[in-house]
Amino acid sequence: MNNMVSIKGDARRLKPTEVIDFLNPDFLYIPVKSDYEMEVKSKKKVYKGEKLMKHNNRFIYSPISGEIVGKTDSMKLNNEDTECIVIENDFKEKLKKRTGVVKYINEYSKEEFLELIESFGACSRPINLKGKTLLINGIDRDPFEYTFSFIINTYSSKILETIDALATILGVENTILAINNNDSENVMNLTNNVGTYPNITLKLVPDIYPIGFKDILIKNVLSKKAISAGYTYLTIQDVYNIYMVLKRKRAIFEKLVTLAGDAIDAPKVVNVKIGTSMSDLIKNCCTITNNKYYVVVNGLVAGKTLTTLNNVITEDTKSIFLNTKDPSSEKKCINCGLCNSKCPVGLNPKYLKEHKKADRSKCINCGLCTYICPSKINFKEYLGGKNE
Ligand code: SF4
Ligand code: SF4
Repeated sequence: MNNMVSIKGDARRLKPTEVIDFLNPDFLYIPVKSDYEMEVKSKKKVYKGEKLMKHNNRFIYSPISGEIVGKTDSMKLNNEDTECIVIENDFKEKLKKRTGVVKYINEYSKEEFLELIESFGACSRPINLKGKTLLINGIDRDPFEYTFSFIINTYSSKILETIDALATILGVENTILAINNNDSENVMNLTNNVGTYPNITLKLVPDIYPIGFKDILIKNVLSKKAISAGYTYLTIQDVYNIYMVLKRKRAIFEKLVTLAGDAIDAPKVVNVKIGTSMSDLIKNCCTITNNKYYVVVNGLVAGKTLTTLNNVITEDTKSIFLNTKDPSSEKKCINCGLCNSKCPVGLNPKYLKEHKKADRSKCINCGLCTYICPSKINFKEYLGGKNE
């Protein structure tokens, strides 16, 4: 496991102890997708779980009951202006229809399974129906993020039941759940309970960055033989989403999000409705201790800086950081070579910054080069590639 670093900091020592709820915002904002048709009209009542938009067999469902107020252009999605449906909450959580609980979720056929996860949008990753291995990533990608750790902690029996069912439905030979060996409560809990599920192998990986990134984890956990025989890669969030769909036949209405950074009172993990405005979430769940902050979403090290808190929480939001602005600006490169020697995929970030046409497709956007640079050179705008 070369080219990975152990990241330390005050925020880590303040790991939250419990999940708090923020499930009753006054308004929700559901981004309108260009290739989807609307299924609802303005000024009409909507139930929780009612279809809002449709594209082929895929639907977007309302996470609350209330009234469709109309549309707005004032919200953003990853900094981009985005038209959103606005739903005013009636706080009744009135369901369109109640669904029962399916007892044995391992009895679905592959076809039924695929149809259900497509219709409820439970997982956007490819499922390799011929793969021999199922790899589940239960590691928070960012060292200051606790979202995956709390999903495992809060829903551990559901997670194990679902992974076991997935192994049966997909007919895989090996099922691996990878978690961080420093995630002590989950290590203890899962080690005690995984014995009930002989299909599942628990893999403890060292607490080094960026082990939680898809490509890096696959390379470090799967053998070359397992990779060439084919595999399916899912995150622990995908597993929880799949649980809700297989067990309750309902979409995902809420999710866990880490709120952290040195400009708020303390880090926390919040259970929040999808479609909540980040500004509402921060206002209701944190005390801002320093107004000179900037906002980063989905990881302090690898995340994206937001221009405003008027962004919407989506299925993909894992964390929001409010951090104090650093007055020391970028300095001249001192040619220490750290960025080059620490890049986990063997790139030379300094060379990429200076050569616009250089191939950067291997870059996983882990942000380690920016984090590690003593001259505070921000490489993020010069890189690219994937970010999984
Ligand atoms: S070049 Fe890309 S992969 Fe390499 S350290 Fe920088 S962000 Fe990470
Ligand atoms: S880490 Fe920063 S200072 Fe060191 S070589 Fe890279 S760009 Fe230059």
